[in-house]
Amino acid sequence: MKLFVTGGAGFIGSNFTRMVLNGQLSGLEGVEVTVFDALTYSGTLSNLESVAGSEQFRFVEGDIRDREAVNAALARHDAVVHFAAESHVDRSVKDSRIFVDTNVVGTQTLLDAALALNIPRFVHVSTDEVYGSIDEGSWDEAEPLLPNSPYAASKAASDLLVRSYFVTHGLNASITRCSNNYGTHHFPEKVIPLFITNLLDDLPVPLYGDGKNIRDWLHVDDHCRGIALVLQQGGAGDVYNIGGGTELSNTALTHLLLEAAGKDESFISHVADRKGHDRRYSVDIAKISRELGYSPQVDFTAGLNDVVQWYRENRAWWEPLKEHSSL
Ligand code: NAD
Repeated sequence: MKLFVTGGAGFIGSNFTRMVLNGQLSGLEGVEVTVFDALTYSGTLSNLESVAGSEQFRFVEGDIRDREAVNAALARHDAVVHFAAESHVDRSVKDSRIFVDTNVVGTQTLLDAALALNIPRFVHVSTDEVYGSIDEGSWDEAEPLLPNSPYAASKAASDLLVRSYFVTHGLNASITRCSNNYGTHHFPEKVIPLFITNLLDDLPVPLYGDGKNIRDWLHVDDHCRGIALVLQQGGAGDVYNIGGGTELSNTALTHLLLEAAGKDESFISHVADRKGHDRRYSVDIAKISRELGYSPQVDFTAGLNDVVQWYRENRAWWEPLKEHSSL
């Protein structure tokens, strides 16, 4: 089996690629992986260094919006796992153009290529942010999409395009909608790696608004296990929520990070809230649990401590990225 992994040089895509090539995803042992990635500011080949020598691995630098490049690289693959995206909400608040270009037009380009080349399987990695914000309870997959940020709106558009290629053209596509991920190789502009790296540098951490926004944190390895299940057993045209991690307010998360880094509350810097900041996300994972046997495995406290330790030990990975990140 040959997988075509878009965005495989980014946070989740590189974790997925390493897990496949290290034989850590059940049923995908021995599978070949082509990573197709434009190496934007958030993608780096250093994320793939540990597997670069594998005979099962190939890297193609290319843009999912580039029809010719996608067609040339995608031929003769058995499945697409589509991670490539502009992924940072704050950037989409500042300028949403590239989000529409990459997330919508890029996905449409990839869908056309998959159709033209008769690629047997397509998994689109979407997000729970397409549902909007929920004060109580949890969303199931039948919930209408009500995205609030330009990032989430562009992801919702691509998510619905994938659905339309299943309904209209019969493309064998499934969609995953996952909650917030944490893990190693996470670009240091997102809240967890930003806070950890600031604290390791004795810098304050900027906490948005009243700090009461709630997120469901899932270890990236659990997300990748969910994607592997959907890839192998997911139904055509089906959507699967992935989550089941730990719901935490941003204030509670900040306190855990302060503790893990050995710092006190004086490092918290309260800043104005993000515009349109969603209050709470929460996905119901009954469908993927019941139908595909998914359950998260990584304990949050242990997982978070491991991640803090990884950032302590891997300054050479994050320092250059943070220096050149221009948000
Ligand atoms: P990331 O920003 O770390 O990685 C994105 C990758 O896509 C980078 O390697 C980048 O170079 C590549 N890319 C961007 N534009 C491209 C283009 N035009 N052509 C080819 N490659 C391009 O993002 P991430 O956090 O790893 O997210 C991956 C996917 O998972 C995204 O689709 C995101 O919406 C989704 N998701 C993320 C989370 C999360 O918590 N991070 C949760 C749910 C879903």
